[in-house]
Amino acid sequence: MEFTQIPHPSPTPAEAREEALKTPGFGMLFSDHMVTIDYDEAKGGWHSASVGPREALSLDPAASVLHYAQEIFEGMKAYKQADGGIALFRPEENAKRFNRSADRLAMPNLPEELFLEAVKQLVAIDRDWFPSVDGGSLYLRPFMIATEAFLGVRPAKQYKFLVIASPAGSYFKGGVKPVSIWQSEYTRAAPGGTGAAKCGGNYAASLVPTGQAFAKGHDQVLFLDAVERKWIEELGGMNLFFVFDDGRVITPPLTGTILPGITRESLIALLREEGLTVSEEMYSIDQWREDSASGKLLETMACGTAAVVTPVGKVASADGEFEIGSGGPGQMTMKIREKLVGIQNGTIEDTHGWVMKLD
Ligand SMILES: *Cc1c(COP(=O)(O)O)cnc(C)c1O
Repeated sequence: MEFTQIPHPSPTPAEAREEALKTPGFGMLFSDHMVTIDYDEAKGGWHSASVGPREALSLDPAASVLHYAQEIFEGMKAYKQADGGIALFRPEENAKRFNRSADRLAMPNLPEELFLEAVKQLVAIDRDWFPSVDGGSLYLRPFMIATEAFLGVRPAKQYKFLVIASPAGSYFKGGVKPVSIWQSEYTRAAPGGTGAAKCGGNYAASLVPTGQAFAKGHDQVLFLDAVERKWIEELGGMNLFFVFDDGRVITPPLTGTILPGITRESLIALLREEGLTVSEEMYSIDQWREDSASGKLLETMACGTAAVVTPVGKVASADGEFEIGSGGPGQMTMKIREKLVGIQNGTIEDTHGWVMKLD
């Protein structure tokens, strides 16, 4: 599919852009362009791909996405390489997961090559939007919405796929700090639900528990399983790993209620390379508390594209709180974090074929 190129009539002046790129924050600053591709069942599927100025959308007020939340998204980053080039990290995995999410939300699949081409087109046109700060990257947000004007409850017949870009600074100001998490009484996903799909609806339901965590002074919310309310699932937007004193590492299994993180899958491989025994195994909140107290559990790390690898220092709930290790960042957490960041930035050799260099 050919992408129509529509140059921005009034791009951000270089001076203003460079100033903004000194303090990008996360998710607040946006580049000048966006990609859009339309889908219409009656027109044979995907059509009219373009990369043009980032602008407001025009939607019919009856568009399905506004009423029944037929929406999915991805989160990925383009990284400035040590040699000055730009690279993506396992973007094919984002393309595949996007289609798995589409399947669950009764939305059309987007050919993987088209997903990748869309992302590459946006990075190419907005290549001047990389933050100038250390650890900065260009966060990419591909997403799809149901645009058909129809209030009946059935899958829509018209959709729009878009990609926008947001320069992102290092998630951590002044070094990697262990996060404090709040164990919520709310659940995120039930068996048979949409927990494994990256859809906005999951996030809408997590906002009250996340707000409670923030109000109590914590950084993130922890969700337990919806059936027994004892098995650890994940944080609001990050997967978890538990590191033990005998070289074992546990991460919760993908039973359909957890988002299958690409960082999670990458960490399983990297931890095994360190000689650790990684198993995908259920782990309960009670066992976590007990193993932390006995010293068997050395470290807990949370991972995802946005924050990469983050140490968990403290867990609090209505029943009280406990600390993990010394409360500071663990050795393995920092080692794995540096390795992953090094691969993404091109300073450590990519032996897995994870990095896709762009020209
Ligand atoms: C995106 C996401 C993750 C992390 O996935 P990555 O592919 O590693 O970025 C974890 N949990 C939830 C709920 C998510 O939406």
